[in-house]
Amino acid sequence: MVRVAVLGSGTMGSGIAQLAAMHRFDVAIYDIAESAFDTAWKSINTSLGRFVAKGDLTEQDARDVRVRTMTTTRLREAVSTADIIVEAVPEDLEVKRAILGDVISLAPRSSIIGTNTSQFRISDIGRALGDDASRLVGTHFFNPPVMMKLVEITRGDETSDDTMRRARTFAEDLGKDVVVIEKDSPGFITTRISAIVRLECLRILEDGVASAEDIDRACRLGLGFPMGPLELGDFNGLDTYLKALESLEVAYGPRYRPTDGLKEMVAAGRLGRKTGHGFYAYDDQGRRQADTDSAHADE
Ligand code: NAD
Repeated sequence: MVRVAVLGSGTMGSGIAQLAAMHRFDVAIYDIAESAFDTAWKSINTSLGRFVAKGDLTEQDARDVRVRTMTTTRLREAVSTADIIVEAVPEDLEVKRAILGDVISLAPRSSIIGTNTSQFRISDIGRALGDDASRLVGTHFFNPPVMMKLVEITRGDETSDDTMRRARTFAEDLGKDVVVIEKDSPGFITTRISAIVRLECLRILEDGVASAEDIDRACRLGLGFPMGPLELGDFNGLDTYLKALESLEVAYGPRYRPTDGLKEMVAAGRLGRKTGHGFYAYDDQGRRQADTDSAHADE
């Protein structure tokens, strides 16, 4: 029986844990905050309910997924018997380094560690791990992990061939398609591309070329995007988006420089859905208000 430990029970951690349990792995989820598990279980149960409603899982399958999944705030309990560890704590280099430093002293030497970072170099995260950096690999799942087909697997400078092979097998065992990033580069493939697309949407908006609503509509209807880049920015949080661009600018230069409009919105606390106002306005329940394209450029 292959045992999986997931570090962090947020949006991605809870989804990766559910995915692994649905594929019959034994899963332990670790988080620093016990309260985070309430949200995680709510999200897992809602998702399982949808699978059952569609007839893709039986009620018994859903119960088995819950039985195969345990939660703990004790890191040792989560990782001491793990074969595969997936780190999904916040996108903060120091937080990731600190937890992986602890994991190395508690997990079996035979285990491998996947980091779900969206954009850090794997080698920068692994610097604290010494020789054990050979066991660290980028395993970038997408939101929601139970639905999205892709996993980007990134080789850090120290990642061993065996770790790469096991990470790929794990992703494929979860039913995913894999792309391999052989040169450890910030933002891999997808984060780099999506950041550039969103940035261009911001420039179009701030140049007064079109409204947020029409930019999003053009991307959806003309380019086949499932969601407009600006509405997605509101959904994920504009502070997160700004942070991502700032870090890509450090790596790749001015082509990722955030626009002044984005910086102003974040400074003003207009962070998107979570603050009720971003490119669009939202009610208390996070529902978008009709006709509230609130292009900041003209304010
Ligand atoms: P999140 O904020 O939803 O969840 C993070 C969880 O980590 C929280 O439950 C928090 O309590 C916990 N946590 C914080 N510090 C911790 C620590 N030291 N030890 C253990 N748990 C800790 O974050 P998320 O959106 O799930 O993102 C996790 C990672 O996945 C990030 O690296 C992010 O860049 C990446 N990612 C996110 C998405 C997305 O759409 N949300 C997509 C792909 C990749």
